Amino acid sequence: MKTISLLGATGSIGVQTLDIIRKNPESFTLSAFSAGRNVDAARQIINEFMPDFVSVVDKDDAERLQSEYPNVQIMHGSQGLELAAVYYKADTLVNAVIGSVGLQPTLSAIDSGKTIAIANKETLVTAGHIVTAAAKKAGVELLPVDSEHSAIFQCMQGERNKNVSRIILTASGGSFRDKKREELADVTVAETLNHPNWSMGAKITVDSATMMNKGLEVIEAHWLFSLPYDQIDVILHRESIIHSMVEFHDRSVMAQLGSPDMRVPIQYALTWPDRLPLPDTMPLDLVEIGRLHFEKADFNRYRMLHFAYEAGRTAGTMPAVMNAANEEAVAAFLDGKLTFLQIEEMVERAMEQHNVILSPELGAIMESDAEARAFVRSFLS
Ligand code: NDP
Ligand code: MG
Repeated sequence: MKTISLLGATGSIGVQTLDIIRKNPESFTLSAFSAGRNVDAARQIINEFMPDFVSVVDKDDAERLQSEYPNVQIMHGSQGLELAAVYYKADTLVNAVIGSVGLQPTLSAIDSGKTIAIANKETLVTAGHIVTAAAKKAGVELLPVDSEHSAIFQCMQGERNKNVSRIILTASGGSFRDKKREELADVTVAETLNHPNWSMGAKITVDSATMMNKGLEVIEAHWLFSLPYDQIDVILHRESIIHSMVEFHDRSVMAQLGSPDMRVPIQYALTWPDRLPLPDTMPLDLVEIGRLHFEKADFNRYRMLHFAYEAGRTAGTMPAVMNAANEEAVAAFLDGKLTFLQIEEMVERAMEQHNVILSPELGAIMESDAEARAFVRSFLS
């Protein structure tokens, strides 16, 4: 039996994690969770799962919930989020919050010896060297939830890192994969949120359309699998059936395939090295699918991919700056304050004006993150 603390329980990954817990009560129990501002959803989760500890973003919401549920400990804000992550009854943290707000809770959970199932890729991008070093030192597992990284992790079972020649991340291409760059100038938020293969939270759906999601995943892969950037490739694969691949020195390539369903990688992170059935996921019918397609990922078309490799190779505070500028720019785009192409313009400018600090401590990373956010906000009215 695993006892889980789930950060971001009201989000896309959070809801799918709850579905796995719900369907496997003999394997999993939920002792703590965090929500953001969706208090109605938080209430439903409390009613169904009866956890001991809950955190929400706002103080008023926390007070209201506390008066409704006197037997549950309810906290709020960044402190509440961190306390949920280290809740003493939980042995496993599923981190499914969005954004670099997930960093500090992850570090605290590592320090308190929890197994970490990590969906929150922004954490690894922002401070991959600190997070992976802390996990190694504490001897805790950092298990990928992101489908590409889960695929690589699955292909690597029983293999040795030194035998890998490269990993190949697959990318669906997002909502605008059939549009040329010139056609992107006036795309709307609604068009951007219409992803062809995956139903996900708003921010990551925008990131998929700009290809920043794949850029973040390149940096995430660098840290999770300790590989240099010239051994990490991206190719377009529009069907999202091959979730990623590993090539070994003998040119043998391992791939992991499946219908696009995030519950597969989420559940694998929770059951590894075992597996549980997932009865209501679609079985893969390759005859029905017929063909799989692959294309080069063009760095001129998808400039964010180029920025991400550049940020990753520059290292230090640069990935944190790229990520923070992107988070702010995407939020502004969703808010109608920036156009789609201005998202990448903001990321490029924020990176250009940043004086990188190499081998930064956590404090310098947080400062660079805050500066990049302020820089982007200075362009918004
Ligand atoms: P969602 O936007 O759907 O959910 C985000 C969650 O975080 C919600 O529970 C939200 O609360 C909470 N939250 C938002 N802001 C804050 C904050 N400032 N403090 C505390 N909690 C907050 O995101 P996704 O589930 O799509 O993504 C979560 C993570 O998983 C991301 O890092 C993403 O990149 C990664 N990921 C997601 C995939 C997917 O299929 N969705 C696939 C692979 C990776 P509320 O809604 O209550 O306000
Ligand atoms: Mg992914």
